[in-house]
Amino acid sequence: MKATKTIISTLRDAPNDAVISSHQLMMRTGMLRKLGNGLYSYMPLGLRSLRKVENIIREELDAAGLLEMKPTVVVPGDIWRESGRWDKMSGEMLTAQNRAGQDMVVSPTAEEAFTVLIREGLSSYKQLPVIVYQINTKYRDEIRPRYGVMRGREFTMMDAYSFDADQKSLDESYEKCAAAYRRIFKRMGLSTISVKADTGAMGGSGSEEFMVESEVGDDTLILCPNCSYAANVEKAACRPDEALDKDGKPQVPATEQISKVDCPGVETIAAMETFFKMPATQFIKVLIYKVYNSTLDFTDAPGGKSFRREEENTAAPYYPESFIAVAIRGDLDVNETKLAAVLKASGVELAEQEDVIKYSGAPHGFVGPVGLTKVPLLADESVMVSRGDGTFDVKLHDTVTGGGTKDIDNMHVEPGRDFVPFMTADVRVVKPGDKCPDCGGTFYMKKGNELGHIFKLGDKYTKSMNVTYLDVNGKPVTPIMGCYGIGVDRTLASIIEEHHDEKGIIWTMSTAPYQVVIVPVKYDGTMKEAADKLYDELTKEGIEVLLDDRNERPGVKFNDADLIGFPIRIVVGEKNLPNVEIKLRKEADARLVPLADAAKETAAVVRAELAELSK
Ligand code: ATP
Ligand code: MG
Repeated sequence: MKATKTIISTLRDAPNDAVISSHQLMMRTGMLRKLGNGLYSYMPLGLRSLRKVENIIREELDAAGLLEMKPTVVVPGDIWRESGRWDKMSGEMLTAQNRAGQDMVVSPTAEEAFTVLIREGLSSYKQLPVIVYQINTKYRDEIRPRYGVMRGREFTMMDAYSFDADQKSLDESYEKCAAAYRRIFKRMGLSTISVKADTGAMGGSGSEEFMVESEVGDDTLILCPNCSYAANVEKAACRPDEALDKDGKPQVPATEQISKVDCPGVETIAAMETFFKMPATQFIKVLIYKVYNSTLDFTDAPGGKSFRREEENTAAPYYPESFIAVAIRGDLDVNETKLAAVLKASGVELAEQEDVIKYSGAPHGFVGPVGLTKVPLLADESVMVSRGDGTFDVKLHDTVTGGGTKDIDNMHVEPGRDFVPFMTADVRVVKPGDKCPDCGGTFYMKKGNELGHIFKLGDKYTKSMNVTYLDVNGKPVTPIMGCYGIGVDRTLASIIEEHHDEKGIIWTMSTAPYQVVIVPVKYDGTMKEAADKLYDELTKEGIEVLLDDRNERPGVKFNDADLIGFPIRIVVGEKNLPNVEIKLRKEADARLVPLADAAKETAAVVRAELAELSK
């Protein structure tokens, strides 16, 4: 391609709303133009890189045996009613009515469409397993689109859906996609961190996120330096640790009995630290939570019988609403996502003051673990760990806790001696410095951005949308599904985030709009001749070349080449001929190479780098 035959419109400055490097560079290189909030259009150069990313995804998925399809982007609202998501998704979903008054949806995701399409022809177990995918436009009415195409309203997504006869087959489909994802990101030159959701406390359901490190990431990752443990802070588990006293020594079990202390107004942990002159690690705080739809059995727990249990017409009896007291070390916070998971509940929230008093006898700030009779007590593993035989490994000794009465605290409270919880679990918010549950390594933290996601769905859609096939015995059964997504634009932007410097983008060989740029100092005379020859030879070698034939000053052309970030630049200058200067964007130094060898040598570099990325 000649530069004068395409659209190259680089900008000196990025627009003000571009705050992250990839957004700034995508705008400055002219890859993107904005049409509206969250609506970005790809210009020719940008589209070439986007297509590269799409094609890498396509090639790897095809190689793994997935089948590409192309459902429509606009789908009938009725299929969303069928799955029950019409109301749930209505915020993010762009809908319209056609002239006949029928509801239409601009797909924000496509579980419904694929389920309907597969349902149509599915009759026998012999047709399973099958994994289908599309690389197609999505629209989500994001409240706050930002960072350019990182979070746009219209974007391209690869979404795949597997249909399997049983769990074992689903596990295989899932692994197949996970392996393909790893090859995809590797080929693009992206370092991804795979974050499994089923870490410790969360139990087994299969889900994995592929994240990249990013300063502006929406997710906070907890990582272990010694092993592959990586978790979203929302779900991260940790190994219980022994609390230390104010001198940094292990705490000693209480020998004295509980004594009550008047402490009017000492409601917070900070106030307690000042009042008792002790570190927060010596306190136990107790919080009362309201719990929704728990399927745990509280019958034998204190207060358990007072909660209404729904037993009729339901697969698993559950408590529409119940309460629990959570005891945790004073310096820690409760992770409500983990707490809800442990309680097998749909959600938890801190109880209102009225309920706190009703269940614990004291207002918030003075609730204690001792003598709770109206509410089950869950102890975080920072306090004690159940050994499963009625005994406990106590992590916190001789503690100060709320006294169960307003303005009273208890001193010398010994877990196990003075109170016994209904259950113990890891429900704390994990922080850097906490210990890895798998290997004991000391956690550190990073911000991350999700590029892709793989998820075992089970029969959520196939059941509500009545998909069945006949098994070996001719019996109708419901298949189970998995879903798999990669944000194509976000992946493209992430490549730029990882590969750029102060001058511009440094494309990886597999994702560059063109692998090579030829810059004649002046496109005239012998330089023009040499540049044209090189261009023809490289093109014959199958290399993607841009020839900068613009009538611009050399400095402008060099700056543009660096800004756009072609992996290889070949400068054709009069004084160097019959040599030309080859420079890799990622390296500082250039080499002089005879014009006669330049094409072969350049092609070899391109192929070697592509091969390295595909390894
Ligand atoms: P997020 O938490 O970032 O909103 P999500 O959980 O909504 O993501 P999924 O529904 O799993 O995302 O979609 C699959 C992939 O699509 C994501 O991993 C991400 O790469 C991409 N994606 C989602 N929303 C957007 C968006 N608004 N703009 C660009 N890419 C997006
Ligand atoms: Mg989202």
